[in-house]
Amino acid sequence: MLDRIQSGYDVVVVGGGPAGMGAALGARDSGAGRVLILDREPEPGGILMQCIHSGFGLHYFKQELTGPEYAERFLTKVLEQDVDIACGCYVSGIAIDSDGSKRVRIMSERQGLVSVETRSVVMSMGCRERTRGAIRIPGTRPSGVLTAGLAQKLVNMRGYLPGKRVVILGSGDIGLIMARRLIIEGCEVIGVFEIMPYSNGLTRNVVQCLNDFSIPLHLSTTVTEIHGRDRVERVTVAPVDEKQVAYSERAWDVPCDTLMMSVGLIPENELSHGLGIQLDTITGGPRVSSTLETSMPGVFACGNVLHVHDVVDYVTRESLLAGRFAGEWSQGIRRPQDNIRLVAGDNVRYCVPHSLSPEREHTLYMRCKSAMKPCVIRVGNVLEKKLRFVVPAEMIMLKLKPDILERFQGDALRVDLVAAEEVDGESFDD
Ligand SMILES: Cc1cc2nc3c(=O)[nH]c(=O)nc-3n(C[C@H](O)[C@H](O)[C@H](O)COP(=O)(O)OP(=O)(O)OC[C@H]3O[C@@H](n4cnc5c(N)ncnc54)[C@H](O)[C@@H]3O)c2cc1C
Repeated sequence: MLDRIQSGYDVVVVGGGPAGMGAALGARDSGAGRVLILDREPEPGGILMQCIHSGFGLHYFKQELTGPEYAERFLTKVLEQDVDIACGCYVSGIAIDSDGSKRVRIMSERQGLVSVETRSVVMSMGCRERTRGAIRIPGTRPSGVLTAGLAQKLVNMRGYLPGKRVVILGSGDIGLIMARRLIIEGCEVIGVFEIMPYSNGLTRNVVQCLNDFSIPLHLSTTVTEIHGRDRVERVTVAPVDEKQVAYSERAWDVPCDTLMMSVGLIPENELSHGLGIQLDTITGGPRVSSTLETSMPGVFACGNVLHVHDVVDYVTRESLLAGRFAGEWSQGIRRPQDNIRLVAGDNVRYCVPHSLSPEREHTLYMRCKSAMKPCVIRVGNVLEKKLRFVVPAEMIMLKLKPDILERFQGDALRVDLVAAEEVDGESFDD
């Protein structure tokens, strides 16, 4: 870890979570000389450091690790590869000089304002949680309303219990994991209320965190009002119709002292905005080519800042690639421009990356709009793959080999998810 930041790097990685550490390793692997990771927190590891439950690394290490264990393995590798890490360093802006070199502006706890010059940059700032303000729940403003990630940090890292009788709004993975965590810590978790007709978390989390602990999941139901003067005293919940409008006549009150929200994540793209990088309105992350380069030459993106991932192993896979291409860029290697644009078709919410090249193999990451069981994923007229099911909460991954893309004539490749009569065997593979 660095005491003092010097200038003059080949690759600077903003964010030291799993994406940032993967990107730094990818950059070193490509032959990049000086690589620096910057993180605003006192230690690297990102969100993993507060995830003390197991379930990380099943794909990448074929082992079930906790978040800090997964982070530790990457930190060891990063340090072995002589990557510089500077913590307590908030990146406040990035400027591009006329010769294409970049200057990263840092507010450092130790050195104050510092500017670091680099040839290429990897954005890996992760994402933040949506709050009560973002979803505008009416009512009073008592204490006891907080996001699931904050509750996780308080319980797992600081040793504080945020409340005793807890209602959870939203069934994202963090909320599900925290439902179980709070029960283990002796809280009463009254129920999880989800506005959609399906859970927004992974099936394994619904089973292991709610069903195994007899915590009820109320689908198509939301919190319509918060009550309480100093502290939350109760919330009003109501079922919703298919347009998510609450049936107020069927509402009921739930006494509680805490409302914990797990209502979505927003990629942290203020730096990307500042740089004028083109963003995808659906993912909230940058639009990227197949080398994970943003619309700003020499600036790459990976991990949750690019699109919200459900499993960290895929973050690692993506970030090793982003780092490799950022490292190549810093050495003057330029890949041919992509010539195939990807188009999200029927029941596909988004596809990342946004364009492809037949030059090499690609992994597409996508999410569906609504659940289908069974279905077929159709990539133009070049590939069809049967899937047992798709649900919005679970990312779909698809490998495309160069020979498949060589068969494609045209410049816009459409990806559709269509209902199928019957599907035997496996769901998607990776
Ligand atoms: C509660 C929870 C439970 C999860 N459970 C699982 C699980 O069981 N299994 C699994 O495989 N995956 C799980 N995940 C998913 C996985 O943890 C994430 O996909 C992964 O951590 C994303 O990595 P990242 O590096 O993109 O983002 P992060 O881990 O969020 O790291 C981003 C880093 O960037 C830093 N940063 C941001 N902005 C700046 C700035 N301007 N300057 C400097 N630094 C900055 C932040 O401090 C942070 O350290 C879980 C996620 C959460 C939130």
